[in-house]
Amino acid sequence: MTHILIGGETVSKNKLDYAIVSIKKLNIRVTPQRVAILEYLLTSGLHPTVDEIYRAVKNKFPSICLTTIYNNLNTLCEVGLVRELKFGNTPSRFDGNVKEHYHIICNNCNTVIDLHYPLLKEIEVFAEQIADFKVSHHRFEVYGECTTCSA
Ligand SMILES: [Zn+2]
Ligand SMILES: [Zn+2]
Repeated sequence: MTHILIGGETVSKNKLDYAIVSIKKLNIRVTPQRVAILEYLLTSGLHPTVDEIYRAVKNKFPSICLTTIYNNLNTLCEVGLVRELKFGNTPSRFDGNVKEHYHIICNNCNTVIDLHYPLLKEIEVFAEQIADFKVSHHRFEVYGECTTCSA
């Protein structure tokens, strides 16, 4: 098992193997481009935009086009291996970590970092009680200035 250390968090190469097995089980073709996109999302620890993914994957596959990136991301999101993150009217970002977690976002450069904090399930219970809503989920984000921008 190879481990790549990113921002103090250990990301296992096994996650990629697991994702590839999941794709095969779903009868979705395992193309080298698809694997490259997943690998970038799982190992970079970043929350890249389509353009950023395109630039990263283009290094390996110079002939890849933006449409292929879009189509692959759609498929990966549909099967639940990748999550699309929408923040207001800025371009969507993509997350290879599909477990529920929060994010901290830079006001200036829009960098998105994982914020691991116990899920605030009590707020959903509270909302159900006070508003009589059948709650589906909640979103919570913390904003500030990243180290690069505040330097
Ligand atoms: Zn920043
Ligand atoms: Zn994330």
